[in-house]
Amino acid sequence: MGTKQFKAESKRLLDLMINSIYTNKEIFLRELISNASDAIDKMHYRSLTDSKFSLKDSDLEILIEIDKENRNLIITDNGIGMTGSELENNLGTIAKSGSLAFKNENKDAKDVELIGQFGVGFYSAFMVSDMVTVDSKSPDEEIAHRWTSKGVEGYTVEPCEKVGYGTKITLHIKEDTEDEKYSRFLEDYTIEELVKKYSDYIRYPIRLNAKTLNSMVPIWKKNKSEIKAEDYDNFYMDKFSDYEKPIKVIHSAVEGQISYNALLFIPSHLPFDYYTKNYEKGLQLYSNGVLIMDKCPDLIPDYFSFVKGLVDSQDLSLNISREMLQHDRQLKAIEKNITNKIKSELEKMLQSNREEYEKFFSVFGTQLKYGAYSNFGMDKDKLKDLLIFYSSTEKKNVTLKEYFDRMKPDQNEIYYASGETLDKIENLPQVDSIKEKGYEMLFLTENIDEFVLQVLMEYEGKKFVNVCANSLDLSTDKEKEEIKKENEDNKSMLDFMKDAIGADIESVRFTNKLGKHPVCLTTEGALSIEMVKTLNNQMGSEKGLKAQTILEINNSHPIVSKLKNLYDTNKDELKDYTKILYSQARLIEGMSIDNPAEISNLICDLMTK
Ligand code: ADP
Repeated sequence: MGTKQFKAESKRLLDLMINSIYTNKEIFLRELISNASDAIDKMHYRSLTDSKFSLKDSDLEILIEIDKENRNLIITDNGIGMTGSELENNLGTIAKSGSLAFKNENKDAKDVELIGQFGVGFYSAFMVSDMVTVDSKSPDEEIAHRWTSKGVEGYTVEPCEKVGYGTKITLHIKEDTEDEKYSRFLEDYTIEELVKKYSDYIRYPIRLNAKTLNSMVPIWKKNKSEIKAEDYDNFYMDKFSDYEKPIKVIHSAVEGQISYNALLFIPSHLPFDYYTKNYEKGLQLYSNGVLIMDKCPDLIPDYFSFVKGLVDSQDLSLNISREMLQHDRQLKAIEKNITNKIKSELEKMLQSNREEYEKFFSVFGTQLKYGAYSNFGMDKDKLKDLLIFYSSTEKKNVTLKEYFDRMKPDQNEIYYASGETLDKIENLPQVDSIKEKGYEMLFLTENIDEFVLQVLMEYEGKKFVNVCANSLDLSTDKEKEEIKKENEDNKSMLDFMKDAIGADIESVRFTNKLGKHPVCLTTEGALSIEMVKTLNNQMGSEKGLKAQTILEINNSHPIVSKLKNLYDTNKDELKDYTKILYSQARLIEGMSIDNPAEISNLICDLMTK
């Protein structure tokens, strides 16, 4: 049978493994044992649900043999095995989900990190061997097959003899080099040590010379006091193919109406495919130690979809089908418990370790915000106290509760301002005037933020109000009366100015809210300027939606008497002034102007007068 080529990405990955600069070569054993254990899980499950197979639990094992003379390390499992075409597909290509992302990465250091992300476990065998042989027999095919490869040159698959189901992997260990003593992987004690270090929790006996090397108690069934932080971390990195430790481990054993063990992890970074449609949320589901589903989506709500982990319950039936799972009351009860548990652990982190929470929030905060916003805010009450926003007075992220507790006695609303960056928000005229009055504001820089506040509507009875909204008015009754009169008295001039700008705005008005700034734009109605920017970006059109904007002019600014004067003496020039003022207001809001050349000319005309 001819030699076949690896798929392009696999070849690159393989090349990387063979010439690996990765110092941690020993993890190959962990990877192969993990695969063996997964395969036995599948066979175990098959035997429990299909009466054609009868397997005694005691039959299931992973066997390690060392043949020093021939430099072979042999790992055998009696799991589900692979058919000829499965050998081709599984070992000839790396995981499909990863291949695309992998192609786009070039730097070696990055590649090494990426190795962990794709579950390319099997190829790690090539870090320590110059030839790998895989003999495998699947219950779904009459004959067994042998896959052989010496590396990037390709591989062969041919029929072979094999007794019983399962897989036997023979690693021909590389010759020693100056830097690397590969021969140590042919020593009993090295293997024993590595199994203890990385694979102790594997539920099936791992035997070497008839001795069982692992304790076999799955980590989630152990007493918390027996488990070291690094045990959790190693387990997570191995099981969920991550190259970084989790930011949070949640281990709980629940007894009651429904009993289960849960071991949950919050990753410390975004999974590489998190925002693609390839990402599947879900927890592993075990029934009394037997894996029944790899990613059970019903165990975790969408807003916690970044949580990885597993649930093991003896109260679940093994024969449960996927459709039944969805309607399973016990499963729903577990989901509810788990959701509350994650929430309370995050709240604890928020209270007791703000630095860590900030780190978590910088990675997954957006997800929580989407959670609060989606489904018309169905889950907003569960999530509102996990959200943090930048505070204008504290100069750091704060919770809504913290803001609420600091509110002034006369303050009836929660103020916020939004913009692209904190600096830009800081420079908004309206922000200045609220600042002068001594109120705290939340500064929103993420697109989703304002939508979230709008769905929340209020916190402890205090409404959220955009400082750029026209409805916000902190002046006294007397001041209100004054400005109302001023606007009425000058109605014809203000209407004239509105016409000079055109349909872009609703009206032009005097205001007393602006402190030392001459102009600003405010909005009326549900959509703020920032929200409109976001929505238009999402819809891919620049001019789809419009906010209802109003040009406000500071009535105590010297420009006002100039405008009034022009209205009486030179209406054409008043038009030009109006256009310039409107452009300035747009620029302050971070919007573009439609006619920059015209405005530039108008300004130059004025300068040269
Ligand atoms: P991963 O385990 O993350 O999927 P690997 O490259 O380690 O990636 O393995 C690729 C696939 O090959 C596995 O998903 C599995 O289907 C199959 N496989 C690997 N080792 C074994 C084994 N010992 N028994 C049965 N199938 C295996």
